[in-house]
Amino acid sequence: MRIHELPATTVTVFGAARSGLGAVRLLKSAGAVVRLVDEKATGENLRLQQELLGEGISSFFGPIPFEVVDDAQFFVKSPGIPPTHPLVCYARERGCRIVSEVELAAAFLPPQNKIVAVTGTNGKTTTTAWISHLLTCSGFYAPACGNIGLAFSEAVRDFLAKQTTGAAAIFVVEVSSFQLEDIEDFRPDVAVLTNLAPDHLDRYPSYREYVAAKENIVKNMCAPDALVWNSDNPDSVHFAPHAAVRRLAFSATRMPPSSGAGLLNGMLTMDTDETGTVPLLGVGELPLVGKHNVENALASALAAFLAGASLQAIREGLRSFQGVEHRIEFCGELRGVRFYNDSKATNLDSLEKALQSFSEPVILIAGGRDKKSDYVSLLPLVRERVKALLTIGEAAPLIENAWSRWVPTQRVATMEDAVRCAMRLAQAGDVVLLSPACASYDMYRNFEERGRHFKDCVRRLIEQSS
Ligand code: ADP
Repeated sequence: MRIHELPATTVTVFGAARSGLGAVRLLKSAGAVVRLVDEKATGENLRLQQELLGEGISSFFGPIPFEVVDDAQFFVKSPGIPPTHPLVCYARERGCRIVSEVELAAAFLPPQNKIVAVTGTNGKTTTTAWISHLLTCSGFYAPACGNIGLAFSEAVRDFLAKQTTGAAAIFVVEVSSFQLEDIEDFRPDVAVLTNLAPDHLDRYPSYREYVAAKENIVKNMCAPDALVWNSDNPDSVHFAPHAAVRRLAFSATRMPPSSGAGLLNGMLTMDTDETGTVPLLGVGELPLVGKHNVENALASALAAFLAGASLQAIREGLRSFQGVEHRIEFCGELRGVRFYNDSKATNLDSLEKALQSFSEPVILIAGGRDKKSDYVSLLPLVRERVKALLTIGEAAPLIENAWSRWVPTQRVATMEDAVRCAMRLAQAGDVVLLSPACASYDMYRNFEERGRHFKDCVRRLIEQSS
């Protein structure tokens, strides 16, 4: 991708979601002739077509003619589109360069700016937001972007438009395996691999291919670039073995044997060539619960330090981070009962993490649209931690079949009922946790809407009771 060639270039962008829109607007601002295409001719997309026309961007919605590739020098593929899509295959056969949106955005950044890229199977969003917070505490302009919500291209366009001082920025970019397909030049200064476990096997022929897509994150990195990785996660040990980068490990159980960050006498501790062994803060001082968040904190501290944050700012920012909405999010307390919204827990793994995060008795609200989960597999932990279970949504009978013989269970019809019923069953010192272990689509548009509804119900209950 040569940015200086763009003004004379025609680019086709495939996919009209956040990253596709970010890409067309960034390209347009650089003077490229750009067109957005998408197969969905929905009412929403037709409204978007008008909006884009007003910005001087042409778009096409509906069955896409292959000619949209013929006159394009670059073809930007949105991450949701599989590499096997006929239009993508056609572009590849024609020799039209396929560019991923992260690569495009990065190519626009003047070299003094830095990129911290975060990937992994779980914990990407939390870690991305936490790194951005630590760097912001250290005085940097460090937007969190990418898969987290704000497209990387959008963040870059915003930065280039506003930039008057010439001060350098650090972009903290959450990148999924999908966004790492088609990488040729993308080179972050710091890469973070939170962990690896089998995922998205509907998109990749095998786990190996999924990991290979993720390995693209280090493809162009070389000294002094650094990779932060999780030494407690066996699958991460063999990640990108040939990458010529500095490796720093983190561990939430001990100090890693080489440079990195870990636990020493109950303290989160950093140990690097630059710092020697320095304590950061006590595990109990972290604002987020759960061992997985100790991992996220350690990864964030290392990445922020490598990107230039001071130890002082890292200590302050580890303590003051407020977490990300819908991830074991504290949302209120009534008569000693604490309520947590973990609506992002759309599978059993996430529910397991949430239950492991509390030593208090838990009143659990679970259910939604089933994802063919084996609920019985979590029974030992559910029996140990869950004091009462409230089931909701389509999956209620499946969850009851698996757990209700062992845990007092009640089915509820609505979220309002769930919250009221939970409060009736709870005593001071208990935790009420929405951690559905299911998708939200049976009752809501997405997990965010479900989480916000839960929080509204909790807020109303607290208001009515005070
Ligand atoms: P992602 O962006 O990778 O989906 P999030 O930060 O949004 O990750 O967290 C989603 C869920 O994944 C959390 O609710 C929690 O259950 C689990 N999780 C978060 N961090 C980790 C981690 N480091 N290891 C394992 N699971 C995690």
